[in-house]
Amino acid sequence: MRLGEKPKLIDENGRRIDGRLPDELRPIRMEVGVLKNADGSAYVEYGNTKVIVAVYGPREIHPKHLTLPDRAIIRCRYHMTSFSTTERKSPAPTRREIELSKVIREALEGVIFTELYPRTSIDIFIEVLQADGGTRTAGITAASLALADAGIPMKDLVAGVAVGKVDGVLVLDINEVEDEYSEVDLPVAMMPSFKEITLLQMNGVLTEDEFWEALKLAEKGIMKIYEVQRETLMSRYSKVRAEVEE
Ligand code: ADP
Repeated sequence: MRLGEKPKLIDENGRRIDGRLPDELRPIRMEVGVLKNADGSAYVEYGNTKVIVAVYGPREIHPKHLTLPDRAIIRCRYHMTSFSTTERKSPAPTRREIELSKVIREALEGVIFTELYPRTSIDIFIEVLQADGGTRTAGITAASLALADAGIPMKDLVAGVAVGKVDGVLVLDINEVEDEYSEVDLPVAMMPSFKEITLLQMNGVLTEDEFWEALKLAEKGIMKIYEVQRETLMSRYSKVRAEVEE
């Protein structure tokens, strides 16, 4: 392969560049309650993509003029650390990070019972520690865990994953190389229990049939991620319960 040339993304055995089958997720790791000073926190890995989320609130709003009389406001900052990419990224927020902060907030807002906390803010900080594709979806998965860890009442968790089309094949949970050379990139987030989509973006073109197939693939991944989210929360709180009952 020459420098800059597109690598072969699916080999003769139907395996991907990192050995996965098209419908396979990367190894997933999750932990909640990782930061002492935050009201809620979570750490999530999708393979080499690593994110940490801190949630503060419900708390008093600064500046005060943003206050809403009937519900909490949700604020969200998605940020890539300068060491998260192979080439140093400037720590200043880019247009991409500003856009992602907005779409991630919108993907989470609908699950939170904001009306229970009028005149307050709930602040979500997503820091990408290592970027290898799918940082927005890993960020959403981690943010919903951190919100749950903060004890904020929610309708459901939210889990996300990106589907891509590489070498003409639909693949689940794309990494950075696949993202770079993909024909299509389709990040999806859902409330898994309601099967309700809270984020859907698409770069590229799919036929209608491919689109529904891609959504089905995303849903399959999201249900697996949701299982890990539930297990992570349950193991954390059975530990806390055991400590309290001691
Ligand atoms: P997502 O991380 O949600 O897939 P993008 O599709 O915009 O979002 O980015 C794909 C991948 O490209 C990222 O996960 C990251 O690995 C890489 N990337 C994004 N922005 C930068 C950047 N400024 N410098 C280096 N790599 C980046």
